[in-house]
Amino acid sequence: MSFEAPKGTHDVLPRECPGWRRVIDEAERLCNAYGYRRIVTPTFEETELFARSSGEASDIVSKEMYSFDDRGGRSLTLRPEGTAQVCRAYVEHGLQREPQPVKTWMVAPMFRYARPQRGRFREFWQLSVEAIGCDDPAIDAELIALQAAWLKALGIETTLLLNSIGDRACRPAYLERLEAWLDEHSSELDAEARHKHETSPLRVFDTKNPALATLLEGAPTIGDALCAECSEHFEAVRRYLDACGVAYMLAPRLVRGLDYYTRTAFEFVAPGLGAQDTVSAGGRYDYLVETIGGPPTPAVGFASGIERVVLSAEQDETASELGIDIFFICEPGAPRERVLALMVSLRAGGRSCETDYAGRSLKGQLTQAQRLGAKLTVIAAAGGVTLRRHGQLDESVSYERLEEELG
Ligand code: ATP
Ligand code: MG
Repeated sequence: MSFEAPKGTHDVLPRECPGWRRVIDEAERLCNAYGYRRIVTPTFEETELFARSSGEASDIVSKEMYSFDDRGGRSLTLRPEGTAQVCRAYVEHGLQREPQPVKTWMVAPMFRYARPQRGRFREFWQLSVEAIGCDDPAIDAELIALQAAWLKALGIETTLLLNSIGDRACRPAYLERLEAWLDEHSSELDAEARHKHETSPLRVFDTKNPALATLLEGAPTIGDALCAECSEHFEAVRRYLDACGVAYMLAPRLVRGLDYYTRTAFEFVAPGLGAQDTVSAGGRYDYLVETIGGPPTPAVGFASGIERVVLSAEQDETASELGIDIFFICEPGAPRERVLALMVSLRAGGRSCETDYAGRSLKGQLTQAQRLGAKLTVIAAAGGVTLRRHGQLDESVSYERLEEELG
């Protein structure tokens, strides 16, 4: 009998971890620099939280959630995204009483039952960054600048697509126009679009069908229907992005997949990833907090797929694993206990050490030391040790001297 990782999941093997670490370390560094603080939320939540916040017609709620009843009969769902959770925590812990905006970030696994492909998994990791309790367009620009800085630091070339999708004041009238247009063209719509027309018409634009996308080029766009407040807000976001040197392309048909989004919507697209080319996406969600029972609270955030970022950063991967400090080779008759004890105290002091646990020959151990990039190789024999440093003459010392020198 043999086992494989469940369909749509993946392992990150030790040799792949430096690439992952670089992506996540860089995110942490920039989130700190931008004043975002880490938050950790549970892996699962009440199903209703996601159903309420994402909307019944969203991809996530309609077909992608991993939901189950626990032994107490509660319906729980493995988190498909992080924003609703952070907002739940904001309301539950009364974070509106703290200085606003509350700025958070997390890197965590997400779960969606989707068809696995390159860059699309059933368990995947996301960086999610939120700024809750603030409608200043400068914070939209800040979040976008943070992503741009992160992707740039990783050497990933992206295009930023930007749009505004209006709010409660202007969207209803626009939706009437859109629905009238969709009625006129209903025979040309695909099944998915016809369904969205019934449930959440703005999302017809969120399509992966090229023929439909071409058809929709003739549809009215929300950008032409924004109210004065939304237009002003959007203009300010653009002004601040210009000031920060962040380039963008206006994308009048860009919408977000979830119901709670308002105003600013954006996506960072990386060519070369194929069909799954969106590495980071987000926007403003001014109605989410009240939708889940909190006070009216404007907010904005984004989420990035770590796997996709790692995939696109790969070509630029220059960070190799740094070598270890010391490799201990034990010749036959060497006092292994003494060597192991010395390694314990060196490691406690922060020095990285390795030795052989595979019964290698002297030659094999030398090769292993080289493979690990050891800065110093200590060859331990019965009566004393030899120190070997790259490009230097060997040096013989006693065990007492060795402990003094290294300890
Ligand atoms: P898509 O249109 O690709 O399904 P989405 O609109 O569902 O994306 P979001 O909910 O906005 O995606 O998630 C933000 C980011 O998380 C995406 O831009 C992508 O980088 C990543 N992501 C989303 N779903 C997956 C998945 N199944 N596997 C890997 N990464 C994903
Ligand atoms: Mg999706």
